[in-house]
Amino acid sequence: MIISTKRGTPVEELYKIIRDLESKGVSVTLIRGTDYNVFGLVGDTTVIDEKQVRANPYVENVQRVSEPYKKVNRLFHNEDSIVDVSGIPVGGSQKIVIIGGPCSIESEVQTVEIAEKVKAAGGCMLRGGAYKPRTSPYAFQGLGSEGIKYMVEAREKTGLPIVSEIMSEDKIAEFEEFVDLIQVGARNMQNFSLLKALGKVKKPILLKRGLANTIEEWIMSAEYIAASGNENIILCERGIRTFEKYTRNTLDLSVIPIVKEKTHLPIIIDPSHATGNYKYVESMSLAAVAAGADGLIIEVHSCPEKAFSDGAQSLVPEKFAETVRKSREIAKVIGRDIY
Ligand code: PEP
Ligand code: MN
Repeated sequence: MIISTKRGTPVEELYKIIRDLESKGVSVTLIRGTDYNVFGLVGDTTVIDEKQVRANPYVENVQRVSEPYKKVNRLFHNEDSIVDVSGIPVGGSQKIVIIGGPCSIESEVQTVEIAEKVKAAGGCMLRGGAYKPRTSPYAFQGLGSEGIKYMVEAREKTGLPIVSEIMSEDKIAEFEEFVDLIQVGARNMQNFSLLKALGKVKKPILLKRGLANTIEEWIMSAEYIAASGNENIILCERGIRTFEKYTRNTLDLSVIPIVKEKTHLPIIIDPSHATGNYKYVESMSLAAVAAGADGLIIEVHSCPEKAFSDGAQSLVPEKFAETVRKSREIAKVIGRDIY
């Protein structure tokens, strides 16, 4: 971190700043110029609050040279992390995972039927929402614990690990017991108390990017979970809000190489929420695989026009199977395969 002070800053103020910074455990070098003074900070600068430093009236500028995250930073952990989801490795250079399932769990029959089709198509995990974050309080809110129970049944029948979204801390015990991969949805990406609590659980976390969050904010949310003790984190890009209206969100595929450069965590892509339209899901899936994603999470429904939520972006099982087939071909081109 580099800090410069304003012209004419009294010497005693310069030393006050140095003492403050040193009390936080970093070492400070002062470079005295004729007009300005510059401090170079070395050590763990993640503990320094840039905005607090800026609040000092003698400070002109503050510049970070290293990222504000540590545990998930590739700099301190050069190998790709491989996250174990009930026996399925996610991340690394080899196999990519394809997760399929309905937006909402609707019934026992629907869940088991889709799970079987996802498995037959080559999917390796079942997704499904039991607690749904809906924009309208009048829309279907999910089956809650009953939905989780149906997913557990589907897992027993198919062997597919289950992925489901947690919305609040009070459900952690339930998720820790029953769910293989705990999803934090876009709307909760910065629910810091939830993130801290998930840092204490023994299950892996799928952390979606927020609706309008920068990559750094997203990585900082992963850092929250890791800093609280759980380093089994998979990131998931699901599109961000832009001015575009032809898609539900704008899929930011550039996050794949960026996340891989900045962190050691696996990253998967959700082309369903990113586009909001079943017609665009296949092409974005293939593009994501080509760009190096470690997996895909795709909404699948046997009868999208009757789906309780997100039918417009759900693939019918046959189309999902075709997408898996083509994804495998693309994966092979870049020296990977599908799990
Ligand atoms: C979902 O996965 O069904 C969901 C609500 O996703 P997101 O948080 O990305 O909107
Ligand atoms: Mn959905």
